[in-house]
Amino acid sequence: MKKGLFMLTTIFLLAGCNGGKKAETQPATTDDGIDSTFEYRVDRFADIEILRYPVPGFNSLSLQQKVLIYYLSQAALEGRDILWDQHNRYNLTIRRVCEGVYENYMGDKSTEDWKNFETYLKQIWMANGIHHHYSEDKILPKFSKEYFSTIVKSVDPGRMPFRDGMAADETLTEIVPVMFDPNIMPKRMNQAAGVDLIKTSAVNFYEGVTQKEVENFYNKMKNPNDATPVSYGLNSKVVKKDGVVAEQVWKQGGMYDKAITRIIGWLEKAAGVAENEQQKAVINTLIDFYKTGDLKTFDDYSIKWVSDTSSYVDFVNGFIETYADPLGMKGSWESIVNFKNIEATKRTETISANAQWFEDNSPIDPRFKKSEVKGVSAKVITAAILGGDCYPATPIGINLPNSNWIRAQHGSKSVTIENITYAYDKAAEGNGFNEEFMWSDDERTLSKKYGSLTDNLHTDLHECLGHGSGKLLPGVDGDALKAYGSTLEEARADLFALYYLGDPKLVELKLLPDNEAYKSEYYEYMMNGAMTQLTRIKPGKTIEEAHMRNRALIANWVMEKGKADSVVVFKQKEDKTYVVVNDYDKLRDLFGKLLAEVQRIKSEGDYEAGKKLVETYGVKVDPKLHKEVLARYEKLNLAPYKGFVNPVYKPVTDANGKITDITISYDENYIDQQLRYSRQYSVLPLKN
Ligand code: ZN
Repeated sequence: MKKGLFMLTTIFLLAGCNGGKKAETQPATTDDGIDSTFEYRVDRFADIEILRYPVPGFNSLSLQQKVLIYYLSQAALEGRDILWDQHNRYNLTIRRVCEGVYENYMGDKSTEDWKNFETYLKQIWMANGIHHHYSEDKILPKFSKEYFSTIVKSVDPGRMPFRDGMAADETLTEIVPVMFDPNIMPKRMNQAAGVDLIKTSAVNFYEGVTQKEVENFYNKMKNPNDATPVSYGLNSKVVKKDGVVAEQVWKQGGMYDKAITRIIGWLEKAAGVAENEQQKAVINTLIDFYKTGDLKTFDDYSIKWVSDTSSYVDFVNGFIETYADPLGMKGSWESIVNFKNIEATKRTETISANAQWFEDNSPIDPRFKKSEVKGVSAKVITAAILGGDCYPATPIGINLPNSNWIRAQHGSKSVTIENITYAYDKAAEGNGFNEEFMWSDDERTLSKKYGSLTDNLHTDLHECLGHGSGKLLPGVDGDALKAYGSTLEEARADLFALYYLGDPKLVELKLLPDNEAYKSEYYEYMMNGAMTQLTRIKPGKTIEEAHMRNRALIANWVMEKGKADSVVVFKQKEDKTYVVVNDYDKLRDLFGKLLAEVQRIKSEGDYEAGKKLVETYGVKVDPKLHKEVLARYEKLNLAPYKGFVNPVYKPVTDANGKITDITISYDENYIDQQLRYSRQYSVLPLKN
């Protein structure tokens, strides 16, 4: 489904699996308001915990950099409603009606119903819509539709966002079935083979068209001889009207006009305070893209963006990820603004400087190796604001751009977001997870000593080198693996990282302190892939999300292939199941073997083999083990998913209105932030 050998990737941390780890970097300086009293935990509801992340170093930036970040952060927040609408065409109506009730209801707020209503609102905020952000299943309210109708009708209609003068009754008729009927739009994105993926997905990327029609529509556009193809379909909705299939482009003057116009306004201000001419050109080209919707301009922007490696402040803003689209073409709107973490970046620079060595020594068939690895730029960043698809659930690493040929010719930028992983680590300290699931004190000691470091290194290797290694054989279609492409690509990058974590070269490069450290990541990866990530799957369900499928695939495959030698096994102790690694050397060999096979599948475009690998090892769940893991996990009372609130930036102005400083504060809670965003950054019509 994805864009060939390389694609944009976002790594999500498996929250809850890093209990007790000590973070490597110490961002705390009292100057930044980040000391031992910093509250990492903000809110807890349903299966979610909301955290807060520190932005160490912000106060030490120059005024110009602070202002730049401020403008870019405004641009990052303006796109929020685009994502909501992309996820489902009823999302904005449902959210605004719920918020209208939440802010204006005068009745009894001490009831169970009201509390469930509040939780529901918090859940849909977290998911940017009515479908769970991770499982993509529709979130079913724990209050009745009768209760909902009553509270909606009790509020003064003048305070409610009913569309086009629609009355409460009409609005309820429209949204109640969507909210409450489990059979209507049950899944944001359906990946189950054998059905029309568009018809069975609730995303708002398509309307009135079949999968076949969309595929034909884009196949006609594509020219197989085009060496520099645009990312077809990235910025549009496909609609059939009067029998004609056409695109509604997301641009100024097109679909999402109002939000995009505001984004452009902030970007124009940002261009005025850019750090250098190159960065200014990046921002201006992005503005051109938003104005024209021209995908050639987007490529032009991507090339300029990837080439700008010297600016201190950086950002992503646009239609980027294609994970939410069952056909892997449509970009979900996202934004992240950041600045470089100089100290930690030395680590990734070492990796990048040795990129060719890693490629040459990779255990894959030489035919699939790149003779020249280029353009691997890597840095560790400090996130300053998260927006769109990066908020509240947040990636910990990003690798862009997505376009195959741009990556091949111009390289890619790869980042690890260390203040986010740091916040995860701090929030998870002493939560009992490792005590419950790790086999013995040996593994727990390893984890304590090396867990954070090897975890960060795994992310670095995955992002800086993993996705960028290897090549397709001539004539192989980058989309050949279709719906399995995403999982296999993640597996490839993970395996690359795992294989090299155990390489003595990393000790030689001083990236790891000794030859024991990698075992920590090996153990945790296996424990997670084979067992503990099941905490995120509901009973009776299979694994669907690409990153989770990839981790299950790797863990289950090596367990089976290493069975004869008992390399990694399940062991029982007091009726509890544990993962035990008996032979770390052989485990590394197995990672290498699987890497070679996944690379072969990718390079040859071997769809059948890829499908078999994913379906055999990456999808199914052992119901007995699943039940046990869920029961043990439940006792810990941890939230399987984490989201974040953003810090608040405020300009300080002098008598003439000139900005003299930007302050940062961390005291906004989850509800206040969501409601404020809905007030300040919500200009789209209810239905688009
Ligand atoms: Zn990845």
